[in-house]
Amino acid sequence: MGQKEDYYDVLGIGRNASESEIKAAYRKLAMKYHPDRNPGDKQAEEQFKLAAEAYEVLHDPQKRNIYDQYGHQGLEGSGFSGFGGFEDIFSSFGDIFEDFFGFGSGRRSQNRVRRGADLRYDLNLTFMEAAFGAQKELRINKAAECPSCDGSRCEPGTQPETCQQCGGSGQVTQSQGFFTVRTTCPVCRGQGQFIAHPCEECRGSGQVTTTKTVSVKIPAGVDSGSRLRLANEGEAGASGGPHGDLYVFIYIEPHELFERDDTNVVCRLQISFIQAALGDKIKVPTLNGQKTLTIPKGTQPGDILRFRGEGIPSLRNGRRGDQIIQMDVRTPTNLNKKQEGLLRDFKELETNKLSSKLKKILKGQAARVSR
Ligand SMILES: [Zn+2]
Ligand SMILES: [Zn+2]
Repeated sequence: MGQKEDYYDVLGIGRNASESEIKAAYRKLAMKYHPDRNPGDKQAEEQFKLAAEAYEVLHDPQKRNIYDQYGHQGLEGSGFSGFGGFEDIFSSFGDIFEDFFGFGSGRRSQNRVRRGADLRYDLNLTFMEAAFGAQKELRINKAAECPSCDGSRCEPGTQPETCQQCGGSGQVTQSQGFFTVRTTCPVCRGQGQFIAHPCEECRGSGQVTTTKTVSVKIPAGVDSGSRLRLANEGEAGASGGPHGDLYVFIYIEPHELFERDDTNVVCRLQISFIQAALGDKIKVPTLNGQKTLTIPKGTQPGDILRFRGEGIPSLRNGRRGDQIIQMDVRTPTNLNKKQEGLLRDFKELETNKLSSKLKKILKGQAARVSR
């Protein structure tokens, strides 16, 4: 036996090759020298084994490190002895061939315990329910463990039977050319057993659809887009796995007076320009009933007044926002004769006040034009 070949040369890669480059290089060679494609070719067989050996070392960071530092001798010193035969290679790297040949190492799903699915429930709330919190009953359709078989999928009093084909291992050995490979048992699909008498109640699925009522306490301050998580209220898991969770998505219905801006309650208030000019005290609806608002003299359209702490509590710290009142100043219509007369007098006063200022401005413009 001569000098052993360098593993990097075997795979045709550089010494800095990444993990995915190593895998890709091995794949290519494994396909090329695969015994199925080269029946009876001793040389191909040797190459196939050598490539597997190189891959075995280089894709394992620890072994690669030893090899990089101490070479083949270092590996022998640490107990690495390569592969005995094809069986070893396929049982180690079977998954590499799976995509190409449709079979693999066969170490697939035994009765795996799986967590149940999460569920989503869309819940509409009124503005007030969101502001003050609410207790809600949600009716939810979900998969639950079958009460007849307790999820075992077997008719009560019966047991799963061991698969005759694979003897319960979930794998069968198949001849592929002159060597053999293990594949997933086609009869039990790797389960190792099969159910001869499926539960009638759930038709062997282990689960039934049930309607459950879940009681939820909605905290004050939720907003559209808030999401509540109810742990373990989702669907039942498979083979005794844990339940999923239930997520409640909140939507707030619009209110006829109030809008919401985070924890603030926003409303518009119509007042006449007389109230705006003279100031006034008027009753305004709040979340907690009516409150008196003082409109200051000289209020302008769009001005904002506030009731501090009359908003919605924050979900984070419970602190309440404000009620924000936007002034919507209106011009009165349908004036009676007396009101109109008074406003004309008012106009007269305003005109005289303006006129001297106005005359000055007009005079200035005329002077500029004549220049
Ligand atoms: Zn059942
Ligand atoms: Zn089987």
